[in-house]
Amino acid sequence: MTDEIILHLKKSAMKRRESGHSWIFSNELENIDTSIPAGTICRVLRPDGGTAGRGFFNPRSLIAIRLLQKGKLPISENFIEERISAAFAYRRELGLEKYCRLAFSEADGLPGLIIDRYGDIFMTEILCAGMEMMKDKIVEAIAKLFRPKAIHFRNTSRFRELEGLETYERTEFGSLPEETYIEENGINYTIPIAESQKTGWYYDQRENRAFLEPYFHDRKVLDLHTYLGGFALTAAKSGAQQVWAVDSSAKAIEYAEKNSILNGLGNKIIFQKAKAEHLLEALEAGAVPEKPDFILLDPPNIVHNKKCLSQGIKMLEKMTQQAITALPKDGLLAVSTCSNHITREFFINAISKAAGKTGKDTMLLELRGQAKDHPVLLSMPETEYLHFALISVR
Ligand code: SAH
Repeated sequence: MTDEIILHLKKSAMKRRESGHSWIFSNELENIDTSIPAGTICRVLRPDGGTAGRGFFNPRSLIAIRLLQKGKLPISENFIEERISAAFAYRRELGLEKYCRLAFSEADGLPGLIIDRYGDIFMTEILCAGMEMMKDKIVEAIAKLFRPKAIHFRNTSRFRELEGLETYERTEFGSLPEETYIEENGINYTIPIAESQKTGWYYDQRENRAFLEPYFHDRKVLDLHTYLGGFALTAAKSGAQQVWAVDSSAKAIEYAEKNSILNGLGNKIIFQKAKAEHLLEALEAGAVPEKPDFILLDPPNIVHNKKCLSQGIKMLEKMTQQAITALPKDGLLAVSTCSNHITREFFINAISKAAGKTGKDTMLLELRGQAKDHPVLLSMPETEYLHFALISVR
């Protein structure tokens, strides 16, 4: 490629390059030519003249470059299809073909691209300008590789603003049905895909749901952020004595209930549209007649940037403290966070502090992360975002 646009790294940027991180920040480049269209694939040179790599360049974004390829090798013309294909091969090895996160952004060599697969429905989200320019190629590749019924773009994330991108939602191939179906850990779920949260289903908790199966036996379970019933149905199916499934979204509760009936678990679960904070307060005050001995906390991410970090951690601490206070001896708490700003260390500190404040002895039974179809890059801590702890009250 002779007409490549060349960008130059500052000397001071070289130390950070050693980590192999896929992002290059705007202050790490010698000069930013704002006339280069956002999303152009550029070649990045080190101060010694060698090629650091090639990636999407956005002169408007703090993340100036998202590397697609490190080192001097050129990027294949067909890289979108090749990388989606490789991402699929990895999932297939895990036994995940039909229902999974098919592409997880940088972790699959596809910066700013999320694809969730629901059989022949593909829910896609683009988060950066370079990937937006690749949209036709993404549609082409999915169409060729999977013969889908629908490829839908839910490009509504607030992060798009940082890239100068508008938000919109559109079906670019086939037509999107109102509902779709998945099977996970032997349970069937209907997903209101046209009006779902995020890209439809929280596949990232699949392994944690399965992990908890043996712990649910004979328990009275309170799932405070149930969404479409993932943990609640798993609990009911795994021999829980009683399950309460709560969510603040009416749509979520409607479908969680639908899903319980679909799986013959309707008689075991009580559904309630409510705010978790209110129930935790009532529990803490002893104002709830039947006490759970297993509480699940899986709140939505409120830490979208570093500025909200301390508020997010405080909320996590508060909820964890209230739940532990409300639990009886031998009670269990499963608590999760899903912000990449809350690192594993912050998470452990927060739950330890919260447990300490209750004055009860607690034990950390297990620490876990996101499911394997959301791989973590060692070179990029931001790819690790989900933390899950199982705590027992002594
Ligand atoms: N546990 C779910 C995923 C939860 S996502 C699963 O396994 O699939 C977070 C959920 O919390 C969403 O469904 C959202 O509607 C709900 N939510 C948001 N704010 C809430 C609140 N204050 N109280 C209860 N639920 C809330």
